[in-house]
Amino acid sequence: MTEPRPVLVVHGGAGTIAKPVAGSPGEAPYHAALADILAAGERCLRDGGTALEAVAIAVDLLEECPLFNAGYGAVFTSAGTHELDASIMDGATLRAGAVAGLTRVRRPGRAARAVMEEGSHVLLAAAGAEEFCRAQGLEMVEPDFFSTEARRRQLEAAQAGGRVSLDHDERAPLDERQKFGTVGAVALDRNGHLAALTSTGGMTNKRPGRIGDSPLIGAGTYADDRTAAVSCTGTGEVFIRAAAAYDVCARMAYAGQDLEAAAAAVVRDALTPLGGQGGLIAVDAQGRVAMPFNTAGMYRGFVRAGDAPTTAIF
Ligand code: ASP
Repeated sequence: MTEPRPVLVVHGGAGTIAKPVAGSPGEAPYHAALADILAAGERCLRDGGTALEAVAIAVDLLEECPLFNAGYGAVFTSAGTHELDASIMDGATLRAGAVAGLTRVRRPGRAARAVMEEGSHVLLAAAGAEEFCRAQGLEMVEPDFFSTEARRRQLEAAQAGGRVSLDHDERAPLDERQKFGTVGAVALDRNGHLAALTSTGGMTNKRPGRIGDSPLIGAGTYADDRTAAVSCTGTGEVFIRAAAAYDVCARMAYAGQDLEAAAAAVVRDALTPLGGQGGLIAVDAQGRVAMPFNTAGMYRGFVRAGDAPTTAIF
């Protein structure tokens, strides 16, 4: 059998379209950031890197990019703090790792991977998760490391309007008051293995202690070489209720749907009727890619080894 052509897919959250603002830098910085991140992951895959390595590289860079709500630039809780969540899954072995409610770990995606590699548990939360990360030698930061002025203004706007999940940055192409800012990556490597990684600051003005879909295996993240690797973004509570990421794989395994049909059906038939907003990215073992969403846009892109990246917002 010939080796599959590796592919990496990323997202940087979904949402509605912002009203154009005079002097706005518009879409260009988002396309540029996504393309740079995809290019870094493509180099890894082209050089024979694994799907796990490629998603880790992509999410590392997405977390450090303040345009996206994960790691540095994460949104605020109602208490003016940050609580970060992430999860990772290896499609070859079905090993998985996840962290929730981190306040001091610089790179939650790496924390999730450390939980998976250590192997005793799948999901660690709050103080115990941070203790684990410290013991693993992961970089720790002061909690205000994640704060940016733009996100603080979003919290103030959300609190003024009594909203959860709403924030405000009129320079962004997607309306930050209606945007879900998780980041994620899924990949297929040359050995035919899949992996998925999702990382988030959650939703602006969320209650402290609230955990969304992103760190939950089966809800925000899933990967199985026999079907697909999936990373979600959107109204986390609905993605949890729909077991959204797993549902894509289940439809492929049990109903024989192809990737595109399964991914579209989850968004259209499972999430939308429950009021879920957002989307997902997915790749299967043949390298097919699906990126459905039910919002006006989703920051997204993909790259095949040897090609230039493709990025899109609307
Ligand atoms: N799904 C994330 C959560 O509910 C939010 C997002 O996708 O931006 O925490």
